[in-house]
Amino acid sequence: MERKEFKAESKRLLDLMINSIYTHREIFLRELISNASDAIDKIYYKALTDNSLNFKKDDYYIRVESDKNNKILKISDTGIGMTKEELENNLGVIAKSGSLSFKKENELKDGYDIIGQFGVGFYSAFMVADTVTVISKALGSDEAYKWESEGVEGYTIEACEKDTVGTDIILKIKANTEDENFDEYLEEYKLKSIIKKYSDFIRYPIKMDVTRSRLKEGTENEYEDYTEEQTINSMVPIWKKNKNELTQEDYEKFYSEKHYGFDKPIKYIHTSVEGVISYNAILFIPEKTPYDFYTKEYEKGLELYSNGVLIMNKCADLLPDYFGFVKGIVDSEDLSLNISREILQHDRQLKLIAKNIKTKIKSELESLLKNERDKYEKFYQSFGRQLKYGIYSEFGSNKDVLQDLLMFYSSKEKKMVTLDEYISRMTAEQKYIYYAAGESIERIEKLPQTELLLDKGYEILYFTDDVDEFAIRMLMTYKEKEFKSVSSGDLGIEQDENENNSSQDDKENKELFESMKKLLAGKVKDVRVSKRLKNHPVCLSNEGELSIEMEKILKAMPNNENIKADKILEINANHQVFKALKEAFEKDKDKLNLYTDLLYNQALLIEGLPIEDPVEFTNNMCKIML
Ligand code: ADP
Ligand code: MG
Repeated sequence: MERKEFKAESKRLLDLMINSIYTHREIFLRELISNASDAIDKIYYKALTDNSLNFKKDDYYIRVESDKNNKILKISDTGIGMTKEELENNLGVIAKSGSLSFKKENELKDGYDIIGQFGVGFYSAFMVADTVTVISKALGSDEAYKWESEGVEGYTIEACEKDTVGTDIILKIKANTEDENFDEYLEEYKLKSIIKKYSDFIRYPIKMDVTRSRLKEGTENEYEDYTEEQTINSMVPIWKKNKNELTQEDYEKFYSEKHYGFDKPIKYIHTSVEGVISYNAILFIPEKTPYDFYTKEYEKGLELYSNGVLIMNKCADLLPDYFGFVKGIVDSEDLSLNISREILQHDRQLKLIAKNIKTKIKSELESLLKNERDKYEKFYQSFGRQLKYGIYSEFGSNKDVLQDLLMFYSSKEKKMVTLDEYISRMTAEQKYIYYAAGESIERIEKLPQTELLLDKGYEILYFTDDVDEFAIRMLMTYKEKEFKSVSSGDLGIEQDENENNSSQDDKENKELFESMKKLLAGKVKDVRVSKRLKNHPVCLSNEGELSIEMEKILKAMPNNENIKADKILEINANHQVFKALKEAFEKDKDKLNLYTDLLYNQALLIEGLPIEDPVEFTNNMCKIML
């Protein structure tokens, strides 16, 4: 018997693999089954060109056998097998030599979990086994060989007996340690679940003896166990089936089997793309927001398969953040199984797929909006916020993808409308898209700032989400129309006599406003006659980059206590209160002080801003009653 050492590089990698801390030991089975499937494929392709070979589908399968007593797990296949030379060349050297240097780099960086980092092939068997024995008979050969290794030290190879063509991989499973229960890999339920998880769509049957229970013959309530060979994998994945054969129920069943959500998806998308890159994908748009969706815990991503074999559970690179709610799978033949996450990130194929998927999701959402408005609104209710975050983040670079998908509540339509719908209703002289920000529709409806605009028949969009105004500021314009807050200084509406009057009033009452401004020093930037109030006595408007609504939101975050919007106190010159104010200014400075404080605090209350000194405010209220 010959004893040979592994090639130096293989030795180092093997050592690393066995001794590092792995979180996904179970993938050894995926690797061995994939190899077995490849070996059967090879016979199949040979048979296509070689007439002497007759490929009878039933003869080709993979079998997993567990012998708990002896701690032996065996994976057999009826594939092409290996000659002596092939055993030496394929199992004695790690084929992917680039892996080693790559892993070295990453280890230096931050000590990744190696298995998660790049796929491991045959050698992963050593993660669970002390000894690996391979017995193989190659197609067209009379001899069989046994290759055996206990890990890093090397391997032996010798002739042996095997009746049929194919390969048996025999693993002597490791003894349990404190941290790891290796016996698990001999348990029927565990093996079944690993096979289901990673290898469900392997094209050939993966057979295993399964223990079942049945009524003992001739008895009424005595049961006995018996074993039965079962095929564990379902073989044909739903995404490889013909779309015409599938019903909505099939997709919904898949959605729930995959645990994508407890809801029913609002929409499924099944696409097959062929060309520079080929892939199948089934994507789902859920109806309900997952409970952790808007938290850091939520992980976006699609399941990534290479030709039916799972390579990644949640491939984040396939989805932009703003479409992070999408669930589903992508299967591509163009991706290699042994591919690392790091490599994936730079993978050109993967980038192409991601780009296609993004475009597809966008167009499907647009068609939902156009053709199934109710469903779109439901979707928007759950995930609209994410789209708005998408506009705001990355310096607005995703505006073009997302702006047509936005919706806001409209003062005119009393329902959600798109920006495009708003624009289509704008009159010739209307310069801006008006919006009002506040906590709820009910509160915004009562905002004094909206009075004039509503009175003049302008439509206002209501911003009730924290992110709304930030997103819109990033957007700046939609179809060349600028957005304008109802609280901003200049509303840009027709300058009628009302406007002239107010500047007239400003001049006339310069001294009054100057003294009010002094009284409110540090609180407001200016005091003016309002152009927008009709029935209310006061309101706040604002100038500059930061709106009052934004101040509220930012202040609620840590370290932002000192954020302040530039506020203007606007007074309605046609209101009774204004006369009282003027009178006080002329006759009673204490009263002016009192009125100014009351009006300012009222304006704060209307905005939903906290009053700086509630005790003083209530005391002042009492004073005017006495
Ligand atoms: P990869 O599958 O990426 O090539 P592996 O380490 O998994 O790398 O396997 C190395 C090689 O060993 C395979 O390419 C194949 O040639 C051979 N091999 C492994 N398992 C089998 C098997 N069950 N039947 C035939 N050949 C096999
Ligand atoms: Mg392999």
